Amino acid sequence: MSLLDHYADQLDQLKQQGNLRQFTRYVQDQHYIELNQHRMLNLASNDYLGLASNLVLREQFFDETPLAARLMSSSSSRLLTGNFPEYEALEDAMSQAFHGRAALLFNSGYHMNIGILPALSDSRTLILADKLVHASMIDGIRLSTAKYIRYKHNDLEHLAQLLQRYHDDSAYDRIIVVTESIFSMDGDETDLAQLVAVKNQFSKVMLYVDEAHAIGVRGELGLGCAEQYGVIDAIDFLVGTFGKAMASVGGYLICEPIIREYLINCMRPLIFSTAQPPICMAWTQFMLQQVMRLNTARQHLSELSVILQQGIQAKGYACPSSSHIVPIVVGESQPSIVLATQLQQAGFYVMPVRPPTVPQHSSRVRISLNANLEQADIHALLQQL
Ligand SMILES: *Cc1c(COP(=O)(O)O)cnc(C)c1O
Repeated sequence: MSLLDHYADQLDQLKQQGNLRQFTRYVQDQHYIELNQHRMLNLASNDYLGLASNLVLREQFFDETPLAARLMSSSSSRLLTGNFPEYEALEDAMSQAFHGRAALLFNSGYHMNIGILPALSDSRTLILADKLVHASMIDGIRLSTAKYIRYKHNDLEHLAQLLQRYHDDSAYDRIIVVTESIFSMDGDETDLAQLVAVKNQFSKVMLYVDEAHAIGVRGELGLGCAEQYGVIDAIDFLVGTFGKAMASVGGYLICEPIIREYLINCMRPLIFSTAQPPICMAWTQFMLQQVMRLNTARQHLSELSVILQQGIQAKGYACPSSSHIVPIVVGESQPSIVLATQLQQAGFYVMPVRPPTVPQHSSRVRISLNANLEQADIHALLQQL
């Protein structure tokens, strides 16, 4: 038997369960996507404000950026010679936007989540994480030596019970509560004000909140749910990615200056990986300025989202969403593939999401809205259900 047979068998099993993943080839044009000459609205992208596909902005950025500043590699980690001025400029801009708190940048949101949690934790740390947090946080927790308990999804009462049980346990010096603001798969959200109220009842608790899907999309200035609910200063570790609505690449942390300095010394993905190209930093900063004045687009996106959520529920499907990420929860993998294919044929590019990305028996078609869509697009989509 060849050593490869084992992997071939695993792939066969995935295929039989309807869970085999493959790359797809397509051409993208604004908020459309073309597959085998079939043009569809792109409802699977994270370009929530339509900025990544905006040619006018891209041209403006390159016009403003002289060739000498278009550095395509930083050629080392920031602790060696990779700390270009573009890094500090973006950190200063982020810090200013987030009430003067400290800001630290990472190569990606994934790097950020697998790096910060292990650096912050030791065996006297307890991590309490929402059941549905993103894989990157799970991986970060697994890389740490912390003890780890998951609380029921979005159930802050369950969280409070666990805190009551473990807070005075002498085995722990600190408890880190890990959650998302808007959840990537259900599109529902944590009540951040309530979360902060829970935290404030305990002295050993720190909050770690991932705003990957909320940055750019929520709040007057697009700074996320933390801005929307007025809790920017109450969250110990406020993280997010520039790869979604911000139309760039990279992760960020808003925290206390001590934590920033500590991570620069202790966070392995920050220390041992080449820093992002300076041009990416410059682009992210350019995007940050755009995003902060796009409140009209944010409101439009929010209106579209409500129409779609209500429409899906009216058709009898489960839809837990309160955001621009709107799943149609079908149940098993095969029927969710069938529904996604049907919608694609009708001109709507949506993807089925299956285990292990979501729990067993909660396969779904996931719709990501963007601000370039119109109400008519949503009504046309609903008619297909
Ligand atoms: C997308 C995502 C990440 C990863 O961010 P990248 O910058 O794409 O690596 C982290 N957390 C959550 C909740 C995400 O949705």
